[in-house]
Amino acid sequence: MKKKRIVSGVRATGGLHLGNYIGAIKNWTEMATQHGDADFLFFIADLHAITTPYDEKALKDNTREIAAAYIAAGVDVRKMILFPQSAVPGHAMLQWLLTSLTPMGWLNRMTQFKEKAGKQRDNAVLGLYAYPVLQAADVLLYQATHVPVGEDQKQHIELARDIAGAFNRRYGQEFFTLPEPIIRKEGARIMSLRDGTKKMSKSDESDYSRINLMDDADTIALKFRKAKTDSDPLPDSFEALKDRPEAANLVTIYATLADMDRDAVVKQFAGRNFSVFKPALAELTAEKFTPVATRMRELLSDKAELDRQLAEGAERARAIAVPVLDDTMKLMGFWGTNPFHSADRVAGLL
Ligand code: ATP
Ligand code: MG
Repeated sequence: MKKKRIVSGVRATGGLHLGNYIGAIKNWTEMATQHGDADFLFFIADLHAITTPYDEKALKDNTREIAAAYIAAGVDVRKMILFPQSAVPGHAMLQWLLTSLTPMGWLNRMTQFKEKAGKQRDNAVLGLYAYPVLQAADVLLYQATHVPVGEDQKQHIELARDIAGAFNRRYGQEFFTLPEPIIRKEGARIMSLRDGTKKMSKSDESDYSRINLMDDADTIALKFRKAKTDSDPLPDSFEALKDRPEAANLVTIYATLADMDRDAVVKQFAGRNFSVFKPALAELTAEKFTPVATRMRELLSDKAELDRQLAEGAERARAIAVPVLDDTMKLMGFWGTNPFHSADRVAGLL
């Protein structure tokens, strides 16, 4: 059986929130315990961060903050490869190669673009429209077998599989591995605290819409207190919350953080009001996040060491990416191998 290779990333658009933690990072560190023999590559998606308005003065520190969050939440850089996406040029190169196999019709169906571009569709940049192809390159470059993501990214992983299939058919070989999405059953889509129909996002304008990994206990309590809910008490089954999205969201957060079944959480608080449930949820969240935030601050206080670890991760990622890109270019009939070898190596390979 093929060795498992697990690849995923987070956009360097700001601090991590509860949704990223539950839907993505917590999932990955749990996978590391389940699949001890797999390769793990986690990257900080800085090339994706520039597709929506961003501050160039903050990008470097956002990249480090996400790196620190990965490590603080359990990514062991000795066993797993952690690196900034832009430090491995093969991502952008492979994206370009794959754009020529991606019909516009496929991209037109992507709901993330519609959501992110909003009403300003004509002003949205080409990078935002094309980013699902970069995302396909992000995983195909490493021949990923599994991609753990939140529910919002399912469509993009399906696109990556379609693009891989199109490449394999066009060049007559089962070359690219078709990656499988791994999406947790509960908590794969944590909703905004202000609007139970919108997902929690780093780029939401309101900081009250999300709990950040670095928020202190008072801020967490305040944000949950202000979170939108209804005035009914909690019922005695999770099923009974199906028309109460905000309430269902808070119960899901509690259940995933406490590693409990959602029905068990509802039963524990049945008949109680949110004035009782919210402080309990705030306490649980602070208990989980405070040690992570403390560790993040420690890691961020030594940027040189963090940068060293990222550079080392990039070197290891490059070693996997370079031969895949070589073979891709060979199959496509290019004159040379990929340009990220040294000049001597290129001469030797021709
Ligand atoms: P942005 O608003 O900049 O797109 P984001 O909050 O959507 O930020 P991403 O960096 O795009 O975060 O996504 C990182 C990972 O977190 C992905 O696997 C994504 O599916 C997951 N994720 C994002 N938001 C949520 C959420 N609300 N619930 C569960 N998982 C989420
Ligand atoms: Mg996103």
